[in-house]
Amino acid sequence: MCSYRIQGIPESLATAARESLRSPQYGHPAHIEVATGYGPCRLCLQTFQTGTEERLLFTYQPFIDRAALPAPGPVFIHRSPCERYDGPALPEALRALPLALEGYGAEGMLLSQQRVGAEPFEGVLQDVFERAEVQYAHLRNAEVGCFIARLERR
Ligand SMILES: [Zn+2]
Repeated sequence: MCSYRIQGIPESLATAARESLRSPQYGHPAHIEVATGYGPCRLCLQTFQTGTEERLLFTYQPFIDRAALPAPGPVFIHRSPCERYDGPALPEALRALPLALEGYGAEGMLLSQQRVGAEPFEGVLQDVFERAEVQYAHLRNAEVGCFIARLERR
């Protein structure tokens, strides 16, 4: 079993979005609403309690590699401060969601894309990182396509 970390978006970006109510990377206004769906929050990687928790919607670009083709998209985070997730295991709250994993190589080259279906998440992850050229992976919602989290080799 390969060793990896699954990480929420950078804390600095989440803080900036909460304070400015704008996308820190693009400047577009952020939207505040009571959660109508599960999310999840891209900072703590927990699902929202619909009807009660407030969330912030803004445009986020997940690639750190400057040579990668940017892929901006909508993400949600809790309106109130929460703790950034950075750990070796998939948060249990995410296990029930439709998930897909994408493995990226140098310059953000997409090398593999797999849905997590019949096979458990850990098996798919193992497949993706088995290729030595894969430097990091993105976890995405397999139905709507949104970016959920970044995974790095340890
Ligand atoms: Zn959160």
